[in-house]
Amino acid sequence: MRFSGLRVLREGLTGNKGWQPHWRDPEPKAEYDAVIIGGGGHGLSTAYYLAKTHGMTNIAVLEKGYIGGGNVGRNTTIVRANYFLQGNSEFYSHSLKLWEGLEEDLNYNVMHSQRGLINLFHSDGQRDAFVRRGNAMAVQGDDAVLLDRAGVARHLPYLDFDNIRFPVYGGLLHPRGGTARHDAVAWGYARGADRRGVDLLQNCEVTGIDIENGAVRGVQTTRGAIRARKVGIVVAGRSGQVAAMAGMRLPIESHVLQAFVTEGLKPCIDHVVSFGMGHFYMSQSDKGGLVFGGDLDFYASYAQRGNLPMAEHVMEAGMTLMPMIGKAKVLRSWGGIMDMTPDGSPIIDKTDTGGLFIDCGWCYGGFKAVPGSGFSLAHLMATGQHHAPAAKFRLDRFRTGRGLMDEEGTGSQHNLH
Ligand SMILES: Cc1cc2nc3c(=O)[nH]c(=O)nc-3n(C[C@H](O)[C@H](O)[C@H](O)COP(=O)(O)OP(=O)(O)OC[C@H]3O[C@@H](n4cnc5c(N)ncnc54)[C@H](O)[C@@H]3O)c2cc1C
Repeated sequence: MRFSGLRVLREGLTGNKGWQPHWRDPEPKAEYDAVIIGGGGHGLSTAYYLAKTHGMTNIAVLEKGYIGGGNVGRNTTIVRANYFLQGNSEFYSHSLKLWEGLEEDLNYNVMHSQRGLINLFHSDGQRDAFVRRGNAMAVQGDDAVLLDRAGVARHLPYLDFDNIRFPVYGGLLHPRGGTARHDAVAWGYARGADRRGVDLLQNCEVTGIDIENGAVRGVQTTRGAIRARKVGIVVAGRSGQVAAMAGMRLPIESHVLQAFVTEGLKPCIDHVVSFGMGHFYMSQSDKGGLVFGGDLDFYASYAQRGNLPMAEHVMEAGMTLMPMIGKAKVLRSWGGIMDMTPDGSPIIDKTDTGGLFIDCGWCYGGFKAVPGSGFSLAHLMATGQHHAPAAKFRLDRFRTGRGLMDEEGTGSQHNLH
């Protein structure tokens, strides 16, 4: 089933009776060439690129719940390539290029909207830091425009520019940054993988990892044992728990991250706006809701709900920046479990167990990484070689201390990233 404007028109005129399910609901096979644990954005995109780019189609994605039920369907949907440090910079640049061709590639409308992202700064020192970041982005081949106060006012006239504590000095505009519809990304990759023969096994929780003579042989699941000589662990907030099934202790802490959405409003915010003096950012969804994101809860937890102090912090920061939002009613809030590394940068690597791979540590930045991460992990699983843009995402950097990518400059503290 292909999507096209003509198809939508025809279905609309004939009662929408011709649409088919986006993917099959197969029974697990006893053996696959590779299995991916975790049917989130990263697991699905890994399966898609394994099939599409490397011709591996005898593979399965094992998801303990339903496709799109994890962080891939819980995030604030921001897509950008404005990272500063080598290692991150080239990876996110590559991922954004994949985003830019994704809808055609998947034949699926993921509502990728490059509406522009503006990071505000509120002091001279912060301006210097953003100038450096903008230069790093330009060197990487990405787009960055430094805006002075008047320049920001042309784009975002509704901000409180003269707030006594945090006056707006200017902003760094990343025109190719924006948003995408999160669950459509999961559905698009799921459908693309299924069409290439990948089995998507929902309600299939991995409960054990079988290892013989130092090499992986398969997994135990709630739907029976499945043999495979290549296994990828791609389970985001559950990374520590699943890796422990293979006897590994990861340098990961899990923290809750919350988001909030207001009632639907007429279009009023047409960028992604990020506050420089508190962890607060905002965009307006296609349904009109204002979507706010904030900071992590600072203690480790596996709960998929947040706490009230962080809700208060987010609302306070939002009101400081744009007092007009005080009139909007917040409809919902939710949380997701973030897999946080000590340097805040991710891991895509082999493990000491033969055939066992790990992709984790995406923290609160992993939605934008969905295409790039899947592409790079598929490359590693299929060829045994690290994909160049992700070559620095090594697990051993936390053991040796060499090659850390501390993008936030906050040191090796999980909860500060
Ligand atoms: C509130 C919030 C806002 C965010 N905002 C942004 C943003 O604006 N931009 C951005 O880039 N990133 C953002 N993120 C981060 C991003 O969502 C995550 O980094 C990314 O989605 C994680 O990868 P994933 O999609 O594969 O995770 P998930 O969707 O969580 O996938 C992991 C899957 O593994 C499954 N699983 C776990 N254990 C097992 C098991 N034992 N067996 C089988 N399956 C298992 C889970 O059920 C889950 O479906 C945000 C996250 C949150 C929570």
